Amino acid sequence: MNFNAPRGTHDLIEKDAENLRYLETLCRKIFEKWNYSEICFPTFEDAGLFTRSIGESTDIIEKEMYVFEDRKGRKLALRPEGTASTVRALLEHSLMQKMPAAKLFYMGPMFRYERPQAGRYREFYQAGAEYFGNSEPPADAEIIIAASEILKSAGLKKIDTRLNSLGCKACRPAFRQELKNYFSSKEGLCEDCSNRLEKNPLRVLDCKIDGPRFTDLPQMEKFLCPECKKHFDGVKELLEKSGCGYTVDHKLVRGLDYYTKTIFEIRGSAEGAQDALCAGGRYDNLVEELGGSPTPAVGFALGSERVIAAAQKENAVWNASRPLKVFVAVSGESLLKEAFVFAAGLRRSNLAEPVKLAICAGAPEICVEGPVASRSLKSQLKLADKFGADKTIIFGEDEYKRGAVVLRDMKTQEQKEIKIV
Ligand code: ATP
Ligand code: MG
Repeated sequence: MNFNAPRGTHDLIEKDAENLRYLETLCRKIFEKWNYSEICFPTFEDAGLFTRSIGESTDIIEKEMYVFEDRKGRKLALRPEGTASTVRALLEHSLMQKMPAAKLFYMGPMFRYERPQAGRYREFYQAGAEYFGNSEPPADAEIIIAASEILKSAGLKKIDTRLNSLGCKACRPAFRQELKNYFSSKEGLCEDCSNRLEKNPLRVLDCKIDGPRFTDLPQMEKFLCPECKKHFDGVKELLEKSGCGYTVDHKLVRGLDYYTKTIFEIRGSAEGAQDALCAGGRYDNLVEELGGSPTPAVGFALGSERVIAAAQKENAVWNASRPLKVFVAVSGESLLKEAFVFAAGLRRSNLAEPVKLAICAGAPEICVEGPVASRSLKSQLKLADKFGADKTIIFGEDEYKRGAVVLRDMKTQEQKEIKIV
């Protein structure tokens, strides 16, 4: 019987797994620099949490969520994104009271039932950050700058930051109505948009078919109330003064209902619909809608696979610090146990200083393989090559009697004896 990974999922092996770790380490460093602390939440939650947060008539809820019943009939869902869980945890653990600043970051897999294609998977990795309790423009600017710092540190030069404001409860309804009026007078909207127009007219703006068709669309910026306008101008000014480039994009909307005021998206150089590397914005009503007291918030999430692909496309060099690789070999089997104990000691850094110095020469990290039994020395040296060993230590009977082993430099092939007792 043959099994394959389910459609839309992928295994990350060797370099791919290393790249994800590299990116996640980089995100972690930048999040910590901006004083965000990590939160790990469950991969599944009450399905209602997502429906309430993301909105009934969004693509995610209508078509993309993995919903299932557990054995007790609870309706659960695999998380399609991280914001709803972060807010749920914030409320469940009263984090606003406990933390000096409720600034949280997360990373891990998300799940959406989408049509798989390059850069679009059913299980994909995100890293994201959420900033609670600050309603002022510096919080928005901080989130946008932190997101673009990550992409820049990942070596991406071609990034395009798009910014818009969706207004608030006070000013958005008039804009929605204006959009409805505008589109109602137009012929031949695509099937999705004709359905959306009543419930979610903003989505017509970023429809791949209808969005580009109209050039004189109504713009939200003209409908912003004085407070939203002042906020938007404040964010723009901070970005400009911090040297963070952006373009105001009147057609930018988001696929989740909870956004208010600022929204943004950072795109890479990929062609087509999969060029969004990260996206986010302000969501000042969500905490209250989920049962908390009114709490302003702003956040973003990046798609790790897309960032990795963009970095590869731009030939960005990701130099993860590589450990010194040491292979321990035995000539004949009689010294297998001694070699095993030595290799374990080397991994624990448990050897006498001069021995460590001779082998590791100050390398901060080491990776040790071997010894393996029942192989000729020749085939062990081949294994050492395959492993990519920098050094090989050979336990031979004659040397061992003198309290020594052979240290072989795999690049220069130079060999020397070193004392180990
Ligand atoms: P898109 O417009 O590409 O569908 P989205 O608006 O649904 O993206 P968000 O919910 O804002 O995306 O998620 C943030 C980021 O997560 C996206 O910018 C993208 O990089 C990544 N992402 C979203 N869906 C997927 C997916 N199915 N596969 C891989 N990455 C994804
Ligand atoms: Mg999507």
